[in-house]
Amino acid sequence: MAEAISSELLNQFTAIVGKKNILDSSDDLTHYTDENRGYVIGQTPLVIKPKTREEVAQILKLASETGTPIVPQGGHTGHMGGGVPISGINSIVVSTERMNKARDIDLSANTLTVEAGVILETIQDLAAQNNRLFPLSLGSQGSCMIGGNISTNAGGTGVLAFGNTRDLVMGLEVVLPDGEIWDGLNKLRKNNTGYDLKNLFIGAEGTLGIVTAAVLKLFPAPAGKEVAWAGFASTLKALDFLQLAKSKAGNQLTAFELIPRIGIEFLLKNFDNFSDPLEQPCPWYGLIEISSGRSEDDARSLTENIFSDALEKGIIEDAVLASNIAQQKLFWKMREDLPLSQHPEGASIAHDISVPIGKVPELMERGEALVTNVVPGARMVAFGHLGDGNIHFNFSSPVGADREQYMTNRKAVNEVVYQLVLELGGSISAEHGIGLFKKDALEQSKSPVELAMMRQIKNCFDPKGIMNPGKVLNMPQ
Ligand SMILES: Cc1cc2nc3c(=O)[nH]c(=O)nc-3n(C[C@H](O)[C@H](O)[C@H](O)COP(=O)(O)OP(=O)(O)OC[C@H]3O[C@@H](n4cnc5c(N)ncnc54)[C@H](O)[C@@H]3O)c2cc1C
Repeated sequence: MAEAISSELLNQFTAIVGKKNILDSSDDLTHYTDENRGYVIGQTPLVIKPKTREEVAQILKLASETGTPIVPQGGHTGHMGGGVPISGINSIVVSTERMNKARDIDLSANTLTVEAGVILETIQDLAAQNNRLFPLSLGSQGSCMIGGNISTNAGGTGVLAFGNTRDLVMGLEVVLPDGEIWDGLNKLRKNNTGYDLKNLFIGAEGTLGIVTAAVLKLFPAPAGKEVAWAGFASTLKALDFLQLAKSKAGNQLTAFELIPRIGIEFLLKNFDNFSDPLEQPCPWYGLIEISSGRSEDDARSLTENIFSDALEKGIIEDAVLASNIAQQKLFWKMREDLPLSQHPEGASIAHDISVPIGKVPELMERGEALVTNVVPGARMVAFGHLGDGNIHFNFSSPVGADREQYMTNRKAVNEVVYQLVLELGGSISAEHGIGLFKKDALEQSKSPVELAMMRQIKNCFDPKGIMNPGKVLNMPQ
């Protein structure tokens, strides 16, 4: 149980947002305290739900004056424990869920200005209603919020053509730890005026301030889209296909997700509504999306051209195109449900990593050998965004192994995987961030100069250390 805060402080916070927008220990706070997969159980004396940037500013000013630690929270879907109020720190959760207004859509500038608590799917829908596309696409899009996406610099399946969240944000509004409001909501595509402040807050995981609103880039809605499965004999062939498709389609290749045969087997075994994508099993599969701004026919003929060339050159074993939108959705659902399909198979030791794209086959081969050396029988379920070199390098437990027993190998498995990733010139966190879980790995992967610069930035914005303490960086006391 978290320590109660003083009644004076409670009254001051209540005066800012009103009684009905504060939750305390008499309420069920588990949604806000517990990591979404139950990996860490946090504690907080208070959850505060401001509605406006002015309320956020008053909350942070008071927190700064009283040295009260704050954990910003959006949809609380983050995978690194960044939004968990760690027990023992007595942090107060500031949830942006009531800051859910779209402020402005500008179709000539192709921008949408939204508050931090707008759910990602709502943003995608708003864009579509205006014949535009907001291309950030994650499995959690029905519940994650744009402030959280910005603060984790989220990736997802659209990065190949459109970049990650950092590439989709034009301007930001942020409340600084002392309660100052920075209004950087510009819509400028060109703005070379010194340090790019917004990029400091993107990916900062709530350690430098609270993002309250953002100007987002919109793109023309595609006129046609094709979704297909391809089967590959090896990851090298998958890379050949990626090169071929990129050379023919450029940015019209809007997704390329790699899935291993074992992933398809887990999906078929553990869910009822899927069928084997191709007639003959293949070691690897690609879920490929090709879009056209011109027409449906254009998307189809480009896709057919790429696949027939790939078949002729022996790059793919077989392929199937979705025949309608319902089937496109079903193909995508298989990809989205892949992490879930691992659950009935036992515990999984997961890594969200990236390497230079050409090194993916080496990562798979050497990584599997290293991990099975630590845990004989561990099953590699490596999948994800091949086009970005970002692989979810997961290892399901050996068949029939005890969950808890298997997870005692986590540290040793993490170590061999991260060491290999660094040797290959990769990153220990491709898209999920650092949060609570990867702080030690960050220390090992960054140079002393990089770590010193990061600590100086943290100290400069948050000298009292009230913003999300215990996350991203270990700060000297
Ligand atoms: C099923 C599933 C699929 C997923 N797929 C992907 C994927 O493909 N790619 C990917 O990148 N991630 C993925 N994620 C992880 C997660 O959804 C993303 O990290 C997402 O961006 C988090 O948004 P959120 O609103 O839930 O943030 P939260 O979890 O609430 O917070 C995340 C971090 O940001 C901080 N924060 C939140 N809001 C603010 C704010 N307004 N100002 C300052 N700091 C803030 C928090 O303190 C915390 O450190 C997935 C998660 C799930 C459950």
